[in-house]
Amino acid sequence: MPLYTQPKIPIARPTLALNGLRTHTYTRGFATLRRPTVTQIQSLHKSSTAASRIMSKNISGSSSTNGQESMVAFRFAPGWTEPHRSELSIPMPQPNEVVIKVLAGGLCHSDVGASGHEGAGEVIALGSNVAATHPDLKVGSYIAVFGPNACFEASCKACSTGKDNLCPNAVWIGLGRDGSWADYMALPASSCVPVPGTTQEISPAVVAVATDAVLTPYHALKTCSKVQPGQTVLCLGVGGLGLNAVAIAKNCLNAGTVIACDMRHSSLNQALEVGADLALTPEALEGYLKEHSISIDVVADFCGTQHTFDLSSRVVAPGGIVHIVGLMQPKLEITPLEMMAKDMTVKVSFWGTKQELVEVLQAVKDGKVKPHVEERPLVDCEKVIEEMKAGHLRSRVALIPSH
Ligand SMILES: [Zn+2]
Ligand SMILES: [Zn+2]
Repeated sequence: MPLYTQPKIPIARPTLALNGLRTHTYTRGFATLRRPTVTQIQSLHKSSTAASRIMSKNISGSSSTNGQESMVAFRFAPGWTEPHRSELSIPMPQPNEVVIKVLAGGLCHSDVGASGHEGAGEVIALGSNVAATHPDLKVGSYIAVFGPNACFEASCKACSTGKDNLCPNAVWIGLGRDGSWADYMALPASSCVPVPGTTQEISPAVVAVATDAVLTPYHALKTCSKVQPGQTVLCLGVGGLGLNAVAIAKNCLNAGTVIACDMRHSSLNQALEVGADLALTPEALEGYLKEHSISIDVVADFCGTQHTFDLSSRVVAPGGIVHIVGLMQPKLEITPLEMMAKDMTVKVSFWGTKQELVEVLQAVKDGKVKPHVEERPLVDCEKVIEEMKAGHLRSRVALIPSH
């Protein structure tokens, strides 16, 4: 989900009125665990091959049962404000699910109150229906976790019209059911997207953060704001998502001019490295645009403060789009008269679709988008969350189980 660590641009005004923007409330992830019985499962070894072999055997009806190994998971429970380390049984797949060995679980700010909605892993067990419904998934498949976890039912209006990011029946992974901060996790087969490459070609940490930090700006720019080749795009705030947005606009959507704006010079330099044509501080932005008669077709605001919204409204061209992706302030004030005079459109969007995740993974494979990510051990989960809350993380983080 789009939420960003630190204000990149000072917040100008604290008071706000309505404007219909999304507020940020999530259900704490706490799913009932499917605890396997001893007759279902036994001796799940820690090595992936052993686990795959044993689990596949058991699921296909093989007998032997002796015991089971537990796994580490970091989860919230009702009333908890911090995730806690739990020792749990390795889950067994329901008929339409797979179990994956988690290779990386992404962490982002919206995970305060969740248990990992970004993930990458290796399939180690298939539920009884999966071979028929998802022939592309096999034991050993390297997959990305599609966090919106849509129902994909034909009767679902959102899912049947390609808007599965908006499925009303979805129980988001890590935000309503157990997530990826665990050694293993069960998830619906329909929420697995095969990665177009090996773990050497695209690291699990990169895949994990791509499921949100690339997918969210991709959906925003491509599908919602429909950035066209040759257009001028301004990315306000080039932290984790904003940098990916610069690369998406330039390398995937063939924007003409991509401008990065941030207070941090290090971020501006990174933006230039990933494809920005111009990198400007907020103080320099308006003067530069005026002086060079640059009009902005689409502003993607990765901060979402009143200050950045007002700035976006001023610099966007008549007929242009201001797309709010960041959620640093829960409410923003709009001034309809000024916006009317510009025929300006304000957009917000949520995460991305499964098909877009397929495209995003291909773009990562093709080197068009290179997400920055830092790897940390899963066992340090609580510590890393503390660092994130304190604003000490410098980039996106993926938690890596030790297995
Ligand atoms: Zn996220
Ligand atoms: Zn649905």
